[in-house]
Amino acid sequence: MKTMRVAQVPAAKGKFEIVERSIPEPSHGTVRIKVAACGICHSDALVKEGLWPGIQYPRVPGHEVTGTIDAVGAGVTRLKPGQRVGVGWNGGYCGQCDNCRRGNLFACETGQVTGISFDGGYGEYMIAPASAVARFPDELSPVDAAPLLCAGITTFNALRNSGARPGDLVAVHGIGGLGHLGVQYAAKLGFKTVAIARGEDKEPLARQLGAAIYIDSQSQDPAAELQKLGGASAIIATVTNGPAMGAVAGGLGIKGRMMVVGAADSLQVSPLFLLLGNRSVTGWYSGVSIDSEDTLAFSARTNVKSMNEAFPLERVSEAYERMASGKARFRVVLTMQ
Ligand SMILES: [Zn+2]
Ligand SMILES: [Zn+2]
Repeated sequence: MKTMRVAQVPAAKGKFEIVERSIPEPSHGTVRIKVAACGICHSDALVKEGLWPGIQYPRVPGHEVTGTIDAVGAGVTRLKPGQRVGVGWNGGYCGQCDNCRRGNLFACETGQVTGISFDGGYGEYMIAPASAVARFPDELSPVDAAPLLCAGITTFNALRNSGARPGDLVAVHGIGGLGHLGVQYAAKLGFKTVAIARGEDKEPLARQLGAAIYIDSQSQDPAAELQKLGGASAIIATVTNGPAMGAVAGGLGIKGRMMVVGAADSLQVSPLFLLLGNRSVTGWYSGVSIDSEDTLAFSARTNVKSMNEAFPLERVSEAYERMASGKARFRVVLTMQ
């Protein structure tokens, strides 16, 4: 019997273990992917630390997966062996429930999450529902592209659904794993792009990524600075600090919308400020497989790149610590060969 290596979390708060398992066969409606690379995301802490209700252990995390289909289960017509594909946070949808029938596939009542509901990409092979699989352009390398399946789709999809139009003032708050991609996408989408981060030292990078304007939130009031520029049509809030996010929200222009993609604990915004200007604060779920395909294709076409630190699978513990330290520039990616 052929075997594969995977990195599993044996129990909540347990240490990663590299184990040999038999290579699984794809069941009806699923495909088997030979994994090339998998990003390590902050959300993988949900598995590692046992923060997701009902999770079954051992569990293989990983929802920024790139690779090649090597076997296809019965009933799968769209995908074929040999295709380059990726899998993100959305672990597929049923197409039958009321949310799916209303077109809200991301909110499918089956609620499958890659690497949480079923084993993810920290291993040589994985099984994924066909509805979770995104096709992947040849121009992108698997390591470069892996974080685009989570950090990329989240920011790209938030920007294109923000209501902002080309030429509008759009701010990206935070230049980390999400924000360094958000700034590139905003610039490539034709927005007048503002990057907001703490400290002067981030300015050269922000400009290199495509920001036309940089606001240092330590030495300047970001809301006042945005208002001086006419107010932002959209703000993509990638930080996880609630007060910092709240300090930027006041920079929304008339009908401006803050797209919240950073999981801060709480957020304070003045209702009067919102209602007097028809402003809004919207939570944004990353997207489904077709949004991943759009993200990958747009990234290839416009040369948007994630800045990554790569580690082989055997060094998963070190790689995870590197991500958790917040010091990685900017995303950490596991490679399988
Ligand atoms: Zn993620
Ligand atoms: Zn459904």
